[in-house]
Parts: sequence; structure tokens; C-alpha cells
Amino acid sequence: MENTEMEEFVNAVRERSDIYEVVSRYVPLTMKSGRFWACCPFHEEKTPSFTVSPDKGIFYCFGCHEGGNVFKFISLMEHITYFEAVKLQAERLGIKMPSHKKSSVEIKTEQEKEALQRIAFLARDFYHNCLIKSKDGEAGRKYLAARGITENVIQEFSLGFAPDSWDALTKQVMAHGYSEKQLVASGLAVEKKSGGGVYDRLRGRVIIPISDSFGNAVAFGGRILVESENQPKYLNTPETEIFVKGKLLFGLDKSARAIISANTAIVVEGYMDAISLYSAGVKNVVASLGTAFTEEHAKILSRYARRIIFCYDSDEAGQRATMRAIPMMKNTGVEVFVLIVPDGKDPDEFIRKHGKAEFDKLLENANSIVDYQFQYKINHIDFSTLRGKFQVLNEMFPLCAEIKNTVIQREYFKKFSNVLLIDESLIWQEWQKFLKSANKNAVKNLPPPSKVSLIRQSGGDIVKTLWYEPELLNYVNALVPTENFLSVHLEIFNYIKKCYAEERTPNVLNSARELTSEANNEISRLLGKYEPHEMQMSAFQDSVKIMRRLALEKTYNQINTELEEFFKAGDWENYNEKLQSLTDVQNKLAELV
Ligand SMILES: [Zn+2]
Repeated sequence: MENTEMEEFVNAVRERSDIYEVVSRYVPLTMKSGRFWACCPFHEEKTPSFTVSPDKGIFYCFGCHEGGNVFKFISLMEHITYFEAVKLQAERLGIKMPSHKKSSVEIKTEQEKEALQRIAFLARDFYHNCLIKSKDGEAGRKYLAARGITENVIQEFSLGFAPDSWDALTKQVMAHGYSEKQLVASGLAVEKKSGGGVYDRLRGRVIIPISDSFGNAVAFGGRILVESENQPKYLNTPETEIFVKGKLLFGLDKSARAIISANTAIVVEGYMDAISLYSAGVKNVVASLGTAFTEEHAKILSRYARRIIFCYDSDEAGQRATMRAIPMMKNTGVEVFVLIVPDGKDPDEFIRKHGKAEFDKLLENANSIVDYQFQYKINHIDFSTLRGKFQVLNEMFPLCAEIKNTVIQREYFKKFSNVLLIDESLIWQEWQKFLKSANKNAVKNLPPPSKVSLIRQSGGDIVKTLWYEPELLNYVNALVPTENFLSVHLEIFNYIKKCYAEERTPNVLNSARELTSEANNEISRLLGKYEPHEMQMSAFQDSVKIMRRLALEKTYNQINTELEEFFKAGDWENYNEKLQSLTDVQNKLAELV
């Protein structure tokens, strides 16, 4: 794809996007003194400080200082990258993305995928008809009825039944003109070890079609009717060109609406759990198909809900899977909870026995992840010794560092103190050590030379953007202490500020008279480098963040040195006060990540 063609595309999408229209799809806007206002969708507030200026095509929040153009807004709201936001907005506006000519290989792959999709549809209908119409299907009907799965749910999930035959499905699919090779590629048939030919993979099982988020069947799961030693309880078709486990959440095609309206997604381990909860009326549920919950899964769910409740089996395997799933949610900004079904039951068993009302109660009392992980650690680490106690603490601290509210953080320390039977002041001492080493590691990643070049690069990006958009001055002022700028950038910054105060536009003719030659050279170097608007805006946003981080890290180190002195002097009053400001800085740093 030609770059210029891409740029034209992005420009066209931006020009045709009305930021007022886009924003008001998410938050209601009201007009006041020449701008549109709303309560900010990016931070909690009661009085509006979020503004939209349609003529400039930008939004800006005076509360949390989030700001940018229409694509930035969409990327933040939808938790997608900047370029994904461009594509999404293009789709909404019906603007086609420039595409390259397809090669013959690509055309062939596409045709193969289409064939797999059609085979999957054939199989789904075949299994479903077997279940509801055939005599063979009676066993399946009985099994589902015994599990409390209604006709409606059978229809909605297109549940089916695979007869106990070696070739029932194979025959059916081949009658539609597909080859054995295609059947094997679809995962529905398996090659015979000897003598050639193929046989049905799923036999004598209740069939659960696995659909993508558009509702297209792409794979199948089969559950045996009577559990036995030499047969796996569940058997699924393998991954194929159209089925990638790590990217698919079972049930999402049906539950998306309920997830959005509850703003909560419940994640269970298997499809039978999901179907069971769904048929009991808990509709905001998806399953991760017995495979590990991936970062991709996390990303998908974060587009639908701000809260996720993991509800895996309460046995050791289920709990280990939960511990592995939790870190995947990092960086999604979603609140995570864990529900442990009591009495060692899985959610399917529980809801069948106790009903929806009881399950709703469990949901209300789901554990925060810190509580859950603390529980998990004390179940797995012997904390009768001091060493064990410190091990628990040190494994909990990285989680505590992610809590932005210091009051809540303290509550946890109190709890640790009570459960581990260890003095709270000892916990604070350990916490101090942890913060120090965490900070050392953060600074280690930034050796001095690269720090200087970072400051040069970021300061340049910032003043360049301000040159064109001086109304962003307040934004920069609020977040970045200018003493960290290189002197040449500071000079340009002050010039822009002066122009803005005098209501004139910065321009190179005037600046030639008003600035030193060094500053003039720098500004012509910066302005001479053309960048598409959105690239520049996103570089600007990143640069503000980098400069803010560097400034905060500097403050952090200063406070740390002071803390050490108070500590040595035994000046606890000042020590505690400083400790609070250290935590504040730490929290601000955490917000940048
Ligand atoms: Zn805000």
C-alpha cells in the first residue's frame, strides 16, 4: 500500500468526521459559551469539565487533561489503537480503505476459508436436525432435558447430536461436493491410519457449535452422554483457518448485548457452564473454551464491559487458571473480580441446584482481585514463619502498587497485618523497600544519554504542536513542569506563550526577530519535518506523557533521599508526611502507564 494513498485515506476520514456527532454517540453534550460540554467519560466527575470544539475538531478535559482529535477519542472509548480507530470510523462512514491487489495465493486461501465456513454450516444443520428430528437424537434430547436445558436454548445455540456412526457426517458433507481433504481440514473428520479414507471425529455426542462473534459456527464441541474411562468427556474440533481459540470467546455472539447493558462480563471455563448460566437467565456470560484466557480475550471483553468477573471451577485446576487469567486483564482498565462457587462446585452445577437468585448473590459478593490473590497466596504459602509472611507480602506488593486509592491500599495493609499476624509498621517498612527497588528498576530502564535524547525529542514534539495549536498551552502547563525542557525548547515555548497572550499567531518571520538564532534554527528544523496531523497529535500526546514521567521520577528520587534522612534522624512525623507525598507521586506515575 502506498503511503500517500494511506495518508489521503486518513485525511478523508478525518475531514468527513464530525467530532460533535461522534462524541455525542457516547456522552450527551450541552452548549455553553461557544463550546460543547459534558461530564468526562475518562474520569469520575459530577460537574462537566470535558469540552468539544467542533470547529477545531478536538476534545479536551480540564479535569484529567485528556485531549486530542476524533480518532484519539474513539481509541480511548473503544480501547483500541489509534489506527484501529481510524478504520472503525471509516467503516461507520462507509469510506473504503485503500487495498492492494490480492495475489493468487491470497485468493486461494480465501476460497479455502469460505469452503471451511460452508462445511461448518452444513455440519451445524446436520447435527441440529439429528438432535431435534431423528430417532438417534433421542438420547441427546434426554441428556439435555436432564440438565435443564430448554427447547429455546437448544434453538438459540443450535445444539445438536452426532449419531454413533463412523461416517454419517462425512457422507452428508461429501454429498454436497466437498472432498475428504476439505473435511479433514475442517477438523470434522480424521484420516484413517491405514487403508486411506476418513471417519467422523465426533460420534455419539451432544454437539455444541462454537461460533465467532458474528454468530457463524466455526468449530464444534462434543460431550459424551455417559462418562467412561476410555473416552474424553469433551472432545472439540481442532484449530483451523477459521477457528483460533485464543481469539474466540464462546457465547459472545449471543451475550454481547447483555454484557454491554450490565457493563459486566462473567467469564466461565467451559461452554456447558456458559450455556447453563445463560439458560438460567444469567445472560452476560462467555466461556474461554477450556484454553487459557489470553490477552486477546481481555482486549475483546474490555470493549464491551468495565467489569469482569472470573467464575472458574473451584477446584485447584480452576483456581490456577484464574491466577493465570488475572494478569491478562492488566492495562485494559477493566475492574476484575473473582467469584468462587462454594462447596467445590462448578457454576453449572451450582445454578442448577440453587437457581439464579442465589447465583446473583454470589455475583454481588465476588472478591476483588487483591482479596482473591491474597486468599490464594495464604492457601499456598506457609506463613507461620517470618520468612513465609514476608514472602506473602512481597508477592502482594506489586498488586498493591496498582491500587491508586491510598485509603484502600491501607485497608489491605491492615488486613495483611491481621491475617499474617505481623505488625503493621513492619509491613510499611517492607513496602518502603519494595517501592524503592521498584523505582530503581524503572530508572534503570532509562540510562542518562537516552534520557537526554528523549527530552530533546519530546520537547521538540511538544513545541512543534503548540506552534500550530497554541490553545493546548494550558494542557501542557498543567502536566509538564517546563524547567525540564531543553533551554532552546523553553525559549520557543515562552515565545508561543507570549504570542498567545497577545492574541497573535506565532510565525517564522516574527520569530526571526524575537528569538535567538539557535531557537530559530530549531523551530525551522521542527516545522520542516512534515507529519500527517494525527501522527503529530499522537506523538504530542506521547511526548507530554514522557516529559511528565521524567519530571515525576525526578521528584520521586528527591523525596526518597529526604525520606532516608528523616528515617536516619528518627523524625517520624516528617517521615510519614513525606511517605504520603511519595505515594502520591507513585500514584501519578501509575496513572501514566
Ligand atoms: Zn476528564
